[in-house]
Amino acid sequence: MRDCPQMFDRLTTDAKTPLYNGCTSFTRLSAVVKLFNLKARNGLSDTSFTELLSLIKDMLPKDNVLPSRVYDARKMLSSIGMSYEKIHACPNDCILFRNEYAPLDKCPKCMTSRYKKNLVPSKVVWYFPIIPRFRRMYRNEQDAKNLRWHADERIRDGKLRHPADSPQWAKVDHDYPNFGKEPRNLRLALSTDGINPHGMQSNSHSTWPVVMIIYNLPPWLCMKRKFMMLSMLVPGPKQPGNDIDIYLAPLIEDLKDMWNEGVEVSDGYTEESFMVRAMLFGTINDFPAYGNLSGYIIKGKCACPICEDNTDWVRLEHGKKNVFLGHRRFLPSKHRYRGWRKAFNGMTEERRAPELLYGDKVFEKVKDINNKFVKPFARDLVTSGWKKKSIFFDLPYWKSLYVRHFLDVMHIEKNVFDSVIGMLLNVPGKFKDGIKARLDLVQMGIRTKLAPIKKGKRQYLPPAAHTLSRKEKIVFCKFLQGVKVPEGYSSNIRNLVSMKDLKLIGLKSHDCHVMMEHLLAIGIRSILPKKVRWTITKLCYFFRAICSKVIDTGKLQALEREIIVTLCELEMYFPPSFFDIMVHVTIHLVKETQYCGPAYMRWMYPMERYMKILKGYVKNRSRPEGCIVERYILEETIEFCTDYLSNVESIGLPNSRHLARTTGEGISGNTIVTISRKDWEQAQLYILHNDDEVEPYVKIHKDMITKLNPTRTDQWICREHNATFIQWLKSHIFDELNVKSSLISDRLRWIANGPNFQVFSYTGYMINGCTFYTKDRDD
Ligand SMILES: [Zn+2]
Ligand SMILES: [Zn+2]
Repeated sequence: MRDCPQMFDRLTTDAKTPLYNGCTSFTRLSAVVKLFNLKARNGLSDTSFTELLSLIKDMLPKDNVLPSRVYDARKMLSSIGMSYEKIHACPNDCILFRNEYAPLDKCPKCMTSRYKKNLVPSKVVWYFPIIPRFRRMYRNEQDAKNLRWHADERIRDGKLRHPADSPQWAKVDHDYPNFGKEPRNLRLALSTDGINPHGMQSNSHSTWPVVMIIYNLPPWLCMKRKFMMLSMLVPGPKQPGNDIDIYLAPLIEDLKDMWNEGVEVSDGYTEESFMVRAMLFGTINDFPAYGNLSGYIIKGKCACPICEDNTDWVRLEHGKKNVFLGHRRFLPSKHRYRGWRKAFNGMTEERRAPELLYGDKVFEKVKDINNKFVKPFARDLVTSGWKKKSIFFDLPYWKSLYVRHFLDVMHIEKNVFDSVIGMLLNVPGKFKDGIKARLDLVQMGIRTKLAPIKKGKRQYLPPAAHTLSRKEKIVFCKFLQGVKVPEGYSSNIRNLVSMKDLKLIGLKSHDCHVMMEHLLAIGIRSILPKKVRWTITKLCYFFRAICSKVIDTGKLQALEREIIVTLCELEMYFPPSFFDIMVHVTIHLVKETQYCGPAYMRWMYPMERYMKILKGYVKNRSRPEGCIVERYILEETIEFCTDYLSNVESIGLPNSRHLARTTGEGISGNTIVTISRKDWEQAQLYILHNDDEVEPYVKIHKDMITKLNPTRTDQWICREHNATFIQWLKSHIFDELNVKSSLISDRLRWIANGPNFQVFSYTGYMINGCTFYTKDRDD
């Protein structure tokens, strides 16, 4: 607010003007904000919103001040809008026309003109200064309280739930104690990815929003739209690629200032002023953008940015690509797989795992690189290893971080799943096992039994361990087709299966996530040789463990050992063409979790959702970035005004249907039915076994049976307990009531009695945030 006093004046004027003479419940501002809020949340078009405005205006008394057109309403809000800077850029990405270049008309490096005709700039980058935004956040009492959540309210039991639990967080506290001791200092993540604002129509345009994520916040707010801060918009049509550093400069400068000196903000929670400082904790990107931001070349031979020079690669002559095998060197030195020859590449493995490169070692490698960002000189760049000293190294603490760029589990999981399913179903196009793959095996001199066999003119591939027969494919696809998930849990799985071609179609990253975590392991239960099935199941288990929200640090080492063994086993069963770089990097995921906390706080899902929203802002296709900026600023203003008004729901925090709703609600087809004795007993037994108050009685009963039948097996005792428990509990509680009635709660008495045989039946039911429908209704 201090950055923009006139904004506050206009805000207060409109906030004081009643909507019409004598109106006490709405002011001009609150009416417009609430209406705009409605528009934004429901995605009303401008036309329908104008209609709504004029209709409401007609309903109100004559002297009302409600704007009648969306244009006027928007103007009113934009006059109090948040600030942004438009910075001109060289169309070849050489420089931004700022600081010493500000007065120039031509790019000093490539001599291209700054303007098109009539002083229209060729390329404009939008920067939304972060400092006033952080100031505004701290002014709000609730936000200011949330920003210290990591220090005040976080559960500390040694488990990893949040980046604040991680060793990297602790390292910052340790290396920079002055920064660490102030819990209000901000730790941020930067995320960026390309969006194509034209949707499917043209695939050439790529706009790059840069979004900041604030790790001070609790996990349930941190990755929500309201707190994800758009800080920059790098325009298309071409993606900035390696030159993104040029565009990030204003943001990095602000971050540097916020680290070195800090900025004064007033804290709405403690009602005092203080100097807030900020640091960048890491970047969240998909793999190609990882390469652009880190400056490491993630293509070609040494494509793994973590193994670096030590990446183990093989060129497949027939498949014409590089693959990344050799996971045995990550095994413990005595592991038996290291000695096996035939199953692997024909050799034993004596090498040790490559050492993890910390920031300071990387810095040593890149510090002398003479950065060349000019497009015309792009061909002078190196073809592997580090091609630039990334701009992040301008931040003084950057080289002291364990992990600077996070590997994105979302894309890795999708790619691995696609590869596995392509291998199993032999999907054309995702064909990783074909004649070429087999010829490569011949050339490498391994698994000779799988070499293609010539019969007449055609070649045949002998079945490999992972080959599914047509019958097995049908079993697998049929299973997926029969899967029914609660509404809102994932896409309808059955629509993703094509029984005609026996393949999966149109899988989004989240569908792959659900498949990998839950369905794949079940789907292959009855097919595939046991060893292969077991390995794939372990792979699924690994992704489930790495994606979980609470991570037991004690179990991480075992998890890492397990994924190494799993990858080695995949090397035994699958052809080398399976092992692209995305399969290889799974081996590094555990280390990153160990250092930086749970993967779900560092993955791209929230960013992808955010991008989708930004894409929806584009109404005018000739100036997509302008549309995004305008809408974004407008919504930010609404959000800001909303904090000043009561009873308005935030846009960025929609009412979740996943709110803790433990009492369910039937939503359709309500009838009363009488259930059978068997159903009744099943239901009753389930309740009794899942109730804290009943639990001691379960133990008493089981102990009693065990004592009376000392020679019986556990299984028998369990059966006996299930068969007699309901009746026993009922009479036992009845007896106890007669002796010491006060000790038995009414609730327990009711539960022991069991439910009625007449029950309500629904065809749809909503509970715990999920909606379930009966099969009949669904079909
Ligand atoms: Zn230039
Ligand atoms: Zn690696």
